[in-house]
Amino acid sequence: MSATLIDGKAFAAGVREKVANATAALKASHDITPGLAVVLVGDDPASEIYVRNKKKMTEEVGMQSFDYHLPASTTREELLAKVDELNSNPEVNGILVQLPLPNKDDENIVINAIDPEKDVDGFHVINSGKLATGQDGLVPCTPLGCLMLLKDTLGDLSGKHAVVIGRSNIVGKPMSQLLLNESCTVTTVHSRTRHIKEETKRADILVAAAGKPEMVEADWIKPGVVIIDVGINRIALPEGKSKLVGDVNMEEVAETAAAITPVPGGVGPMTIACLLHNTLKATCIQHQIPFPLGA
Ligand code: NAD
Repeated sequence: MSATLIDGKAFAAGVREKVANATAALKASHDITPGLAVVLVGDDPASEIYVRNKKKMTEEVGMQSFDYHLPASTTREELLAKVDELNSNPEVNGILVQLPLPNKDDENIVINAIDPEKDVDGFHVINSGKLATGQDGLVPCTPLGCLMLLKDTLGDLSGKHAVVIGRSNIVGKPMSQLLLNESCTVTTVHSRTRHIKEETKRADILVAAAGKPEMVEADWIKPGVVIIDVGINRIALPEGKSKLVGDVNMEEVAETAAAITPVPGGVGPMTIACLLHNTLKATCIQHQIPFPLGA
């Protein structure tokens, strides 16, 4: 067997096209242009690149982009005042505060100050509660993108055994909950799990989100598994070069897995596409208009 590559880049382009068409239709029918505000605090170079990409793609789908780059010295009170201002701005339908914040202790406080209907990252406690209880809300972008790729590859996920490596609030935990809501049997493994391979070997679906380069090897999986590799790890090469790899050793699993997302070009492009999907959904929620793209 040779694993099929799941082309996240092409799928994400399709999601963005659907969002662009629905945005144009919303403009024509209701004279509404969705707006996404991104707040970046400090000078993390990776976050700066990510925020620039977000702006470009937001504008490409016909939405308004509002960007705020605040100094690392911004106080919690100043940041909360900015969130407050965006909460009450009717032109802003989605608010994203780029994580990590320079002060880790501010993260939950600031995220929970965002109007839950504008929380396009889906990290607000109201939206995580909705996901945990199977209610419709705004779902974190990366796991939402993984779910879209899995449904496109496998169709109905009901009854499948899914193993998720990682239990972070932004990827692992919401991923497990989404798969549970799809009627999968879900096992979540993490850094304290004993005999991890025994768990991953039972997976029909394996989502790797540990941030450990090429950790998943041939003897971690069973034949026919579909693997979603969320990990993005930069590893050093000779002569001062480097490259990006996932959490899965692609060469090792290629003969056994049925399908796998590459790194780069798999889950990565889905995250921004889902952010735009969520911004459109948030706009529809705020204006009480049915969301045209489904859940
Ligand atoms: P995190 O560090 O917050 O969480 C990592 C999780 O993996 C933890 O729950 C930890 O228990 C678990 N873990 C760590 N080492 C492990 C091990 N040896 N065995 C089993 N479990 C282990 O990371 P995160 O924010 O959830 O991100 C995970 C990875 O996904 C990172 O590589 C990150 O860069 C990537 N990521 C990609 C995207 C994307 O758009 N593609 C988005 C977010 C995160």
